Amino acid sequence: MQFKQLLFALALAALVACQPIEQTQPPAPSVKPLLSVPLAKVIENPQPDNSAWAQQQPYVLMISLDGFRWDYVDMYKPKFLSRFVAESARLEGLRPSYPSKTFPNHITLVTGLYPQNHGIVANDFYESELQKRYRLKDREAVRDGRFYKGLSIWGLAAGQGMRSASYFWPSSEANSPAFAPSYYLPYDHHGDHMARVEQIVRWLELPPAKRPHFINLYFHETDTAGHHYGPGSAELGETINQIDKVLETLVRRLDALDLAINIVLVSDHGMTPAPEAKRIPLVVPAGYTSLGNGPNVQLYPAAYKQGDYRQSAPDPEQALAQLNQAAEHHRCYRPEQAPAPLHIDKARRLGTIVCVAEAGWSLMTRSKKYRALSPGNHGWSPLEGQDMHGIFYGRGPAFKPGFVHPRQDNIHVYPLLAHILGLNIEHSIDGRLGPMKALLK
Ligand SMILES: [Zn+2]
Repeated sequence: MQFKQLLFALALAALVACQPIEQTQPPAPSVKPLLSVPLAKVIENPQPDNSAWAQQQPYVLMISLDGFRWDYVDMYKPKFLSRFVAESARLEGLRPSYPSKTFPNHITLVTGLYPQNHGIVANDFYESELQKRYRLKDREAVRDGRFYKGLSIWGLAAGQGMRSASYFWPSSEANSPAFAPSYYLPYDHHGDHMARVEQIVRWLELPPAKRPHFINLYFHETDTAGHHYGPGSAELGETINQIDKVLETLVRRLDALDLAINIVLVSDHGMTPAPEAKRIPLVVPAGYTSLGNGPNVQLYPAAYKQGDYRQSAPDPEQALAQLNQAAEHHRCYRPEQAPAPLHIDKARRLGTIVCVAEAGWSLMTRSKKYRALSPGNHGWSPLEGQDMHGIFYGRGPAFKPGFVHPRQDNIHVYPLLAHILGLNIEHSIDGRLGPMKALLK
């Protein structure tokens, strides 16, 4: 390229991106003109402006790539993420809480609580006190604040005079002050990626009194491709490359802002092959009904919608004996008697009996509805192998660049975020800063 053409390209790129570009840098690739990106409507919760103290605190952007397994960067070598990881302090893997499902773990990340303590014990369960079923596709249930326990990072920040924002995160739409970001958007599975980039930048360009110090962002695509094509597939690699480009654009835009921004890239869980040969037909005992399928199944009395089902369960010992008879690749428990490392002993909402499949095996209770298994799945115990493990990469002024730390449980992410933001945790949580502290400068 001729020097004059290069100058012209640089000037054009700077105009388009509305950011100064160093002449030593190549022109920015494919940044959409800002005004062409239609932004989704942001909802604002009535919260005070940032206090003078909060305005002095750093910024944290936590991005979740759903189902992004701990070894995907090594496996697929995405261009930008490989560089990002090298500049980050990272965990060898982030161990999810059981069950290694999307909602329970995203909410653990923003509360520091095991699912049994924040209440979202599965993607589908029944709460007898509310006489209400919770499931992902029921938007009204998902917004019902009564399902959620604990104090989210958004609630923690608001209580200490700091504003926050959420661009899609399970529980961020809950009707509860403890789960209220200052700004949020209702979940849109097909929301435009560049609109997300643009909105994050706009939030960080707000005046200091209004600017959120904690922001989170979510992408589902890596989970969806992992289910449809399986870990290791070329299609998943293409999806990762697409997200890689979005992240590159986002991080470049953020780096151009004159702010102390820490970027934390996490995932809720990993992914493993779920072969058809590893199906377990589960016969639901008489008098019971089941919720869920695959890595875990919850059993409730058939009349579970009436009163407290715990009182009306028909002979659970006999049901257990039937379920575990000749069981080779699964085990059913009363939740309170489940193995301690699963941390479900107080998960009353899991029902009378919970059945846990061995890694890679799928429990099938409704054979007609679940004719085919997806090539990839998750939900199994994070203690069996490492395929359920996700990622934790932290890049920015708080983190030691290039530092690698052993695998940790995801309950510890919340106290780390609070520490970076300068927020005090005065309530009881399951996580601790200690296991993560080595990542920090
Ligand atoms: Zn999934």
